[in-house]
Amino acid sequence: MTLAPIAVAAPVLDGRETEYVMECMASSWISSSGRFIGEFEAAFAAFCGVKHAVAVNNGTTALHLALVALGLGPGDEVLVPDLTYIASANAVRYCGATPVFVDNERRTFNLDPEALGAKITPRTRGIIPVHLYGHPVDMDPVLEIAQRHNLFVLEDAAEAVGATYKGRRVGGLGDCATFSFFGNKIITTGEGGMVTTNDDALAKTLRLYRSQGMDPDRRYWFPVIGYNYRMTNIAAAIGLAQMERIETHLAARQRVAAGYNARLAALGEKLILPISENWAGHVYWMYTVLLNRPDLKGRDEVITAMEQEGIETRPVFYPMHVMPPYAEPGSSYPNADWCSERGINLPTHAGLSDDDLDRIVAALARTLA
Ligand SMILES: *Cc1c(COP(=O)(O)O)cnc(C)c1O
Repeated sequence: MTLAPIAVAAPVLDGRETEYVMECMASSWISSSGRFIGEFEAAFAAFCGVKHAVAVNNGTTALHLALVALGLGPGDEVLVPDLTYIASANAVRYCGATPVFVDNERRTFNLDPEALGAKITPRTRGIIPVHLYGHPVDMDPVLEIAQRHNLFVLEDAAEAVGATYKGRRVGGLGDCATFSFFGNKIITTGEGGMVTTNDDALAKTLRLYRSQGMDPDRRYWFPVIGYNYRMTNIAAAIGLAQMERIETHLAARQRVAAGYNARLAALGEKLILPISENWAGHVYWMYTVLLNRPDLKGRDEVITAMEQEGIETRPVFYPMHVMPPYAEPGSSYPNADWCSERGINLPTHAGLSDDDLDRIVAALARTLA
């Protein structure tokens, strides 16, 4: 018997998604006006405990829009973790500014606040802490440095909706935050994103630039060069239905992570399992293990062997400093390299049964034997 393949990620659409999308179709409100946009924004803002949520068409435009609203421009520098998804760096470049990379710490894979200071120059304008794989960044030291140097803090929370730092949800910890609702994220709208903030003026600017820069009080008058980064009512319909079940989506990931922790304990010496700091609420966008091998061999072989057993995994992100557009020959980010070379994301989504977890862990044990 061939077993069904197990995907590394999969959306769960088990709420009112279809009903709400059909309402868009039946009413013909399928573009970027309609009740679901405002309702999704309100539900999202309430969940994050922030005053404003501005829906956009993906997580990358969310980052770009936030940086535009924060006034980033040519000549400016922004501190970005070296170990992240490429969009965190690209959005800085879209503004003509320069991402300056910062090494991470090994326990959570997140930006190391102690590494920030050495990278600050007179051109530094802000910091983008990325809550990687669902574990929040240690924000207090980041905010302290930002305050001392008068820098903005933009949380890239694309992978971390619902994560908490010292009991507070991400999304309201800095000046603003961005989220992604791509199909493999914790909640999805197909493609989609959100910017959250407690700053009234910033929210106004975000809304202005999201919609071509049109003056809200004077139709077809454009005081600035804006963008079309609007979300459709159809996407927001899916998003509202996802938000109605957000606690269920998050609980499913806790179940999966606990299931892995219990099963993988037996592989002790061979793997480093993900940790959650005592001040952190980890939401496990991706359950990430590190191969505990000094010779560094075997990560890609493990991924291939798992694939042959019908189990999709993924390598931890490559650090930014090795990407062709950002190559920094001679620079050293030892912790980013260390995590990237050893890291594997195991399947992490709400659709995984206990049998699936047994099968994944058995395949991993065979592969590592
Ligand atoms: C997914 C992701 C993004 C980009 O979101 P899209 O919706 O795919 O554009 C940005 N930053 C991080 C850390 C991400 O994981």
